[in-house]
Amino acid sequence: MSAKIISGNEVSQQLKEEMKEEVVGLKAKGLQPCLAVILVGEDPASKVYVSNKKKACEFIGIKSLETRLPAEATTEDLLKVIDGYNKDASVHGILCQLPLPKHIPETKILRSILPEKDVDCFHPYNVGLISIGEVRFLPCTPAGVIELIKRGGFQTAGADVIILGRSNIVGRPLSNMLDQRDMNATVTMCHTKTKNLKERCLAADIIIGAIGVPEFLKGDMVKEGAVVIDVGINRVEAPGTEKGFKLVGDVAFNEVKERAAAITPVPGGVGPMTIAMLMKNTLTAAKATMV
Ligand code: NAP
Repeated sequence: MSAKIISGNEVSQQLKEEMKEEVVGLKAKGLQPCLAVILVGEDPASKVYVSNKKKACEFIGIKSLETRLPAEATTEDLLKVIDGYNKDASVHGILCQLPLPKHIPETKILRSILPEKDVDCFHPYNVGLISIGEVRFLPCTPAGVIELIKRGGFQTAGADVIILGRSNIVGRPLSNMLDQRDMNATVTMCHTKTKNLKERCLAADIIIGAIGVPEFLKGDMVKEGAVVIDVGINRVEAPGTEKGFKLVGDVAFNEVKERAAAITPVPGGVGPMTIAMLMKNTLTAAKATMV
């Protein structure tokens, strides 16, 4: 068996086209969705992420604002910028690009964003809403995973799902989302202290890798016909290539694709979905102001 490749590039493009159309309708009703992005410091990867978010906004028709602060900016400087965006009724979503410089407390900053503008869905209030099934926003990467599963037509009701990883950004919210009554999966979240990991994986209908260990999930850990979603993005050395490195996921793609029914590639799988879901949250935030 060779697996169906689930293309996050294609699904995210489709989502963006749908949102572009929706924005035309919102603008006709006088609503201009707007996302404010704050970048502190000069981290090259963060600059690329911010520029990709800006491009996605442009494509869809979402207005984007950007504030850049120097790496030496203080916590108070950043809180002041966030406070300005919190008070600005024309701004619907606020995103503070992570990581922040070490002297700025991430938790304090993320909690200073108004929950109704927290389009990354990191505020404890919004995280709490997910666990009681009253969703306002969904965190972007987990939501991207769910969208790939749904649009691929894969059944989650009654499925045994293994999530490798229990981080607050990926594993834990995914677990919370998949065992709600609209998804009805039976979820096991695994971590470094989990026993019998291989046996657990072999019994799973769906495996989601989110641990940050290059090609951890091997072919012999996967049941024939399972669906495998790879969230991992790991840089590994690739001597002789132009950049000297390549990106691989948490799944040994070439081995696993011979056993799985469907699999996401890295790059081009979950990665592009994250930005699309951020755009979706921005539209949700904007539409909530119309009610
Ligand atoms: P993280 O905060 O470092 O958490 C890693 C989790 O994996 C922890 O729960 C850890 O267990 C578990 N783990 C690590 N090694 C393990 C092993 N050998 N066996 C079992 N469990 C193990 O990672 P993260 O932020 O969730 O990111 C995970 C991966 O997803 C990374 O490659 C990251 O780059 C990628 N990512 C991608 C996107 C995207 O847009 N596609 C977004 C976010 C993250 P303990 O809790 O026991 O330490």
